[in-house]
Amino acid sequence: MLSEFDLIAKYFTRPLRRADRCALGVGDDCALLTPSPGMQIAVSTDMLVEGRHFFAGAEPAKLGHKCLAVNLSDLAAMGAKPLAFTLALALPEANPDWLAAFSGGLLALADLHDCELIGGDTTKGPLTICITVFGEVPLAAALRRDAAKVDDDIWVSGSLGDARLALAGYRNELRLEPGAQQAAGERMHAPTPRVALGLALRGIAHAAIDISDGLGGDLQHILDRSQVGASLQIDALPAGPILSRQSQTLRRNFCLAGGDDYELCFTAAPAQREQVLAAAQKVGVAVTRIGCIEAQPGLRLLDLSNQPVALDVTSFDHFSSP
Ligand code: ADP
Ligand code: MG
Repeated sequence: MLSEFDLIAKYFTRPLRRADRCALGVGDDCALLTPSPGMQIAVSTDMLVEGRHFFAGAEPAKLGHKCLAVNLSDLAAMGAKPLAFTLALALPEANPDWLAAFSGGLLALADLHDCELIGGDTTKGPLTICITVFGEVPLAAALRRDAAKVDDDIWVSGSLGDARLALAGYRNELRLEPGAQQAAGERMHAPTPRVALGLALRGIAHAAIDISDGLGGDLQHILDRSQVGASLQIDALPAGPILSRQSQTLRRNFCLAGGDDYELCFTAAPAQREQVLAAAQKVGVAVTRIGCIEAQPGLRLLDLSNQPVALDVTSFDHFSSP
């Protein structure tokens, strides 16, 4: 039987890769981070609970990837560069195969983003994974939710809705062909955090948020914090490749209120359009202009002929959604 300490040593302890930034990692009472001069530390926590955020029996390597990806996505949305993370883990049992696959998926994504695992906590209990990430961003350069300005363009990265489409398939709300279900499922299980885009948008974008609960609801957070409103071109939303083949109703709904997209929604002055496109091209991520910030509060949805569209944009909420 693996003890708690064997488990931590075997699956979650490695020599420090970036001793210049992390003076001390796993093994002491605290880890020690050395931020670069002039930088602020950006901190974010996300928790994933079995049966709530992922299906029981989920593939452990993908789960390891996803639980770090959703945290890196928060750093991306602030324009912060990943530094390190901690991992708090409740496990029903110490299963070596599960642990090897989980830590493999987790640490592969960590390496891709040069983000060091510096500590955590391990306990027995219903499978729950809680990660806290630390990033750094120059003073006053963070992309905050309260920074949208009237007349800003609203942009979104990548594509929307395929993760929600996969969920609909798993729940038998609709039937997808096996290939389509698999491709959409990949989007749900292995999201790509837009870290490089967040960094490239520093000094160009005003406000940003990552889309975890659905574009409509997440954009509303920017509107609330910035005390502005917005119009969105509903048919300009970039549906994912699988969702693109579905009906207009499904495309509109899942782009607007799907969730689990982990794309960035951000605002920038119209004078910055060329710079936004150049920044996105530099990091190889598509960006689409989907609307504009207005003084009038509220979110207005428009079709291609600028007619209002009535759609419920409520995004996922753990205490009021089914
Ligand atoms: P303490 O009793 O001081 O909380 P622990 O015995 O819980 O310390 O943990 C021992 C060391 O292992 C600490 O440095 C802690 O940060 C680290 N650690 C515990 N669990 C994990 C984990 N799942 N991943 C990475 N490091 C961990
Ligand atoms: Mg502990």
